[in-house]
Amino acid sequence: MQAQPRASHHINGQFHETPDGAPLDVSYPATGDIIARLHAATPELVDRVVAEARAAQKGWARLTGSERGRVLRRAADLIRARNAEISRIETLDTGKALQETLVADAASAADCLEYFGGIAAAITGETVNLGDDFVYTRREPLGVCAGIGAWNYPMQIAAWKAAPALAAGNAFIFKPSEMTPLTALILAEILCEAGLPNGVFNVIQGFGDIGAALAAHPGIDKISLTGSVPTGSKVMGAAATTLKDVTMELGGKSPLIVFADADLEDAIGGAMLGNFYSTGQICSNGTRVFVEKPVYERFVERLQTRTEKIRIGDPLDPDTQMGPLISMAQRDKVLDYIASGQREGARLITGGTPLELQGFAGGAFIAPTVFADVTDDMTIAREEIFGPVMAVLPFAEESEVIDRANATPYGLAAGVFTRDLARAHRVIAALDAGTTWINTYNLTPVEAPFGGVKRSGIGRENSMAAINHYTRLKSVYVASGPVDSPY
Ligand code: NAD
Repeated sequence: MQAQPRASHHINGQFHETPDGAPLDVSYPATGDIIARLHAATPELVDRVVAEARAAQKGWARLTGSERGRVLRRAADLIRARNAEISRIETLDTGKALQETLVADAASAADCLEYFGGIAAAITGETVNLGDDFVYTRREPLGVCAGIGAWNYPMQIAAWKAAPALAAGNAFIFKPSEMTPLTALILAEILCEAGLPNGVFNVIQGFGDIGAALAAHPGIDKISLTGSVPTGSKVMGAAATTLKDVTMELGGKSPLIVFADADLEDAIGGAMLGNFYSTGQICSNGTRVFVEKPVYERFVERLQTRTEKIRIGDPLDPDTQMGPLISMAQRDKVLDYIASGQREGARLITGGTPLELQGFAGGAFIAPTVFADVTDDMTIAREEIFGPVMAVLPFAEESEVIDRANATPYGLAAGVFTRDLARAHRVIAALDAGTTWINTYNLTPVEAPFGGVKRSGIGRENSMAAINHYTRLKSVYVASGPVDSPY
């Protein structure tokens, strides 16, 4: 299995190699086989790409919104035309089942480019009348923005950051996760083919040090990170040296609350989607599933039955529903959490073990795992695991579950399952979270703002809200009379 790109980086409209950069090998998580050998960027390349992006940004910003939008929409069409090919590479890069990547990765990137392509022409200021004078405002691009990605949704993350930035007239530099560097290069290639001027969107590879160099670079005006909370703190610290604007999409330990009146099969389906999709490697997952006591045992029993039917195996087989974790290191980390759950007294309902699959000896497979009788103080109820491990916790009262759901430093997402409309809205309003769902879980259409509160993040991606995070507002006072000066 091979997925070697033409070169490691895509800058100024061309593939580019840095043979002297640190080696960056890419492995297929299902087998451990090396599928591509790349090199990290060098500090010199970072300076060069920033300079080229700065030079390219001015011309891009001078185009009308309609002209910019047309390029993004064309790119969306090109992505859709290559969906099967890109999805296969995304599966090789991440290990996620093809069944998922075919509908959730490149497809979501295309939706995002189409959406921001559509609204690029609608980015406007406003006019404020002040008697004979008036003020008008201009929404201007920030300049050069940079994005740093995580490994769970490589192409989607690149598009969610770049599309609003480009629509608003910024240039963009993206550094994918060192674990999943491949599909952002395809995005760069496609944007160029769609007519994006050279230098406006660039991809450079690298480890944390290259991310840190971007965060601190004086030639970059904004940094947007998708990653863990500790990395978020470091990136904000580095950005603070030049007072850069930041968007932070970080980790979570989100609550999903199931009331006794809910449609139980729907609630179980939501909980499974919110814990097992992408082998549990989703930041917004509802990893603390609070279930009201009257339906608790029935919920756990049906959940076990349905979880044990999940088809795990060859990610490229279209029937496979769950692939491996991103790496053996991630699998070891998840297994350590599972051991802590057992040690601390949670009831293991199903899973809990690594899986050895025939023909996939080096694969980071793990059985989807459910713990019941989890208490709030257990490690598995407090820390983000980033694997297919669901914690189910019983509760008795609405006010009690709200307090327990909010007792976390995170605040990315939350969900409520109930047939009681008033309660659904009341409980959602009381939860400290940025992205929430009623009677479903983890749907993230580009039309809806996405992001967290508390330590889960700053700023929002998607929707019109993202445009505000990639523009600055200038107010222009226009006088019509003589200057009234006492001097
Ligand atoms: P990570 O924090 O280890 O790495 C994220 C990115 O930051 C990588 O590209 C890495 O190279 C880079 N990086 C590392 N150190 C850096 C530094 N000092 N300065 C600048 N960049 C640095 O995260 P990960 O393990 O790749 O991804 C998993 C985490 O991401 C989880 O916590 C998950 O919840 C979070 N996540 C959040 C969202 C969201 O939208 N909120 C989405 C996906 C993942």
